Amino acid sequence: MVNLAFSATRLITYEDCPFMFYKRVIKKEENGQTLPLALGSATHLAIELILKGVSKYDAVVKAFREYEIDELKIKDIMDLVDNAPYQQFMRAAIEIEKKFRLPLDETGEYEVTGVIDVADTKGYFLADWKTNRKVYTPTDTRQLALYAWALGEMQGKREILATLYFLRFYKQQRQSHLFTYWEMQEARIWALKLTKEINKKNQLIKMFEGTPYEESTLKANFPAKPSNRCSHCPFSVECFGMFSDFS
Ligand code: SF4
Repeated sequence: MVNLAFSATRLITYEDCPFMFYKRVIKKEENGQTLPLALGSATHLAIELILKGVSKYDAVVKAFREYEIDELKIKDIMDLVDNAPYQQFMRAAIEIEKKFRLPLDETGEYEVTGVIDVADTKGYFLADWKTNRKVYTPTDTRQLALYAWALGEMQGKREILATLYFLRFYKQQRQSHLFTYWEMQEARIWALKLTKEINKKNQLIKMFEGTPYEESTLKANFPAKPSNRCSHCPFSVECFGMFSDFS
């Protein structure tokens, strides 16, 4: 069986709540677009188009049409785009929305995927646009360290300067960190451990599919982890029914 590969964001979802990860990532049971997702995707697309030479107005309109849902407004996308310091990258030698899929060790058995918003073609720096409401540092999660590792792998670099740009904030909010070789390796090892663990658990669930042990195997391997995320979780009804013993 071919092993599944995940992005850093998906692996963080697994750490946050294994049951949510199972429903969202393995079973792909999430339906429809939410406003935060549509706004985030549209903003990323608009900035990508601008960096590729499209005018700001055309880029925002195109991005709006691409992700249009009822509550999404052009002005909201424009406000976030205006907070992005894209001008500083316009004449730089960069790759935009750089996709990667890389083996996590020399066996090549497990891989990680991802998309780096802005990657220096020489591999010295990367940037990531954030449209969420909370500011945090690049080392608060493993996402940026894993991006840095991926860029380092692709460009043969042992140190990468990575910056998060928080576009919800009028006065530009950014957080940078120079990732060392060891920090990047630590992120790779974290991703490898979780990817192995998830694939093993998923194979176990497949073995018991259609048997009386299917639900108990799922509950044991992808348990619910209640938190403040539950209030806007699309799987809450099923989750509370299945894990009714948690408080
Ligand atoms: S309701 Fe809470 S515990 Fe259940 S899947 Fe969603 S986030 Fe996880």
